[in-house]
Amino acid sequence: MAVDTPARIAVLGAGPIGLEAALYARFLGYDVDIYERGHVADNILRWGHVRMFSPFGMNRSTLGLAALRAQDESYLPPGDEEILTGLEYADRYLLPLSQTDLLADHLRLGIEVIGVGRPELLKGEEIGTEERADSDFRILCRDTAGAETVVTAEVVIDTTGVFGNPNWAGEGGLPAIGEMAVRDRIEYGVPDILGSAQSQYASRKTLVIGAGYSAATTVVALAKLVEAAPDTHVTWLVRQASETGPIAPIVDDRLPERATLTIEANRLAAGASPNVVFKPRTTLASVHYDEAAGKFHVELSGEQDGRAEFDAIVANVGCRPDNRIYQELQVDECYATEGPMKLAAALQGSSTGDCLAQTAHGPQSLTNPEPDFYILGAKSYGRNPNFLVSIGLEQIRDLFTIIGDRQDLDLYETAVKLSS
Ligand SMILES: Cc1cc2nc3c(=O)[nH]c(=O)nc-3n(C[C@H](O)[C@H](O)[C@H](O)COP(=O)(O)OP(=O)(O)OC[C@H]3O[C@@H](n4cnc5c(N)ncnc54)[C@H](O)[C@@H]3O)c2cc1C
Repeated sequence: MAVDTPARIAVLGAGPIGLEAALYARFLGYDVDIYERGHVADNILRWGHVRMFSPFGMNRSTLGLAALRAQDESYLPPGDEEILTGLEYADRYLLPLSQTDLLADHLRLGIEVIGVGRPELLKGEEIGTEERADSDFRILCRDTAGAETVVTAEVVIDTTGVFGNPNWAGEGGLPAIGEMAVRDRIEYGVPDILGSAQSQYASRKTLVIGAGYSAATTVVALAKLVEAAPDTHVTWLVRQASETGPIAPIVDDRLPERATLTIEANRLAAGASPNVVFKPRTTLASVHYDEAAGKFHVELSGEQDGRAEFDAIVANVGCRPDNRIYQELQVDECYATEGPMKLAAALQGSSTGDCLAQTAHGPQSLTNPEPDFYILGAKSYGRNPNFLVSIGLEQIRDLFTIIGDRQDLDLYETAVKLSS
């Protein structure tokens, strides 16, 4: 059912997809509030030193560029082929975009969304009916001082991502014994090993856990650090590994940055550096932090089990959605990925090793039993790590064909026509 302008839309999260969704809604004339617990592009800035693998042309929209040019004729976007770091992407596109007249007054920074519900309905009432939409959403928020407030909206778009909610590093996805007690001491992000975090890793022994591109980035950076600090040592733990190495190469990879990272990480796993010890089919069984010595004591299980001591642990073991936000709504979640079910099923049916080969799965894949509540962006993929900003932009276009009830609505195309 169409939601007519100027209905109030709450966008949760000011990452790239939240900002672009809000911009699209503003262009259409909706009243928009963007609730962001930190700063604009907060999650991206946490790995701001890492060079992205998708070129800028895949990470911006024609609508975003139109808004920036309308705001400031002298705005010069990065070239479409440029490979930016996360920080450059934020500084040169996302932050200026957030400051355009269309968005600036609609940003509510430092506001964390705790939960979304319907004031007159509980989760189990009016199951899957459109009648649920008769009552606006009630959104419970908390500011940085801890004060709680309630705001309302007719439509909610949850783009809160997954990066702030890492998985556990133990066997079977559970916490390793002792991991919960040392959660704050383990690094679950991608530290700037060759920059601001160098002193925490130089001439020290680090345990790296994980077999994705983030773990590869961490291991390659630590191996580079050996050139400046020869006493730097790395133990790399992965649950599985094929004959080609822990990172599956993509045949004829179109993204050179990603191809280079894969080759270098697999070379290190194969023994290219005496400072990198690779332990395939081995997991973290237990961990304990010795305050006095400033060391982690760990027990490993699997093919290369044993006990060891480390100065630091980087667990790049993936992330999962925080579903507490919509726990009181009727959201159908995938039992494997925790992403919304329809999209998860479509993704399952089209799985490919190369995330670049994917496309969005159409407007209907974004709907769930709760009317007017949508999950977009990295969170829509749940634990599946293959999400790309370019897919999120397609999701936004698809979503507003539903909200506006106009199949042919495509503001990205309109923006191209207007600028040519
Ligand atoms: C190292 C690394 C490299 C990557 N490289 C690429 C790449 O090259 N190309 C690419 O397309 N993708 C890349 N990605 C994935 C990329 O991060 C996502 O595509 C993108 O950030 C997803 O955008 P998003 O808006 O969905 O979520 P996010 O960017 O995660 O933004 C979510 C926002 O929501 C906010 N938030 C969270 N919880 C709440 C709450 N309760 N209340 C209010 N606000 C909240 C967060 O603070 C954050 O600002 C990379 C990821 C990593 C980790």
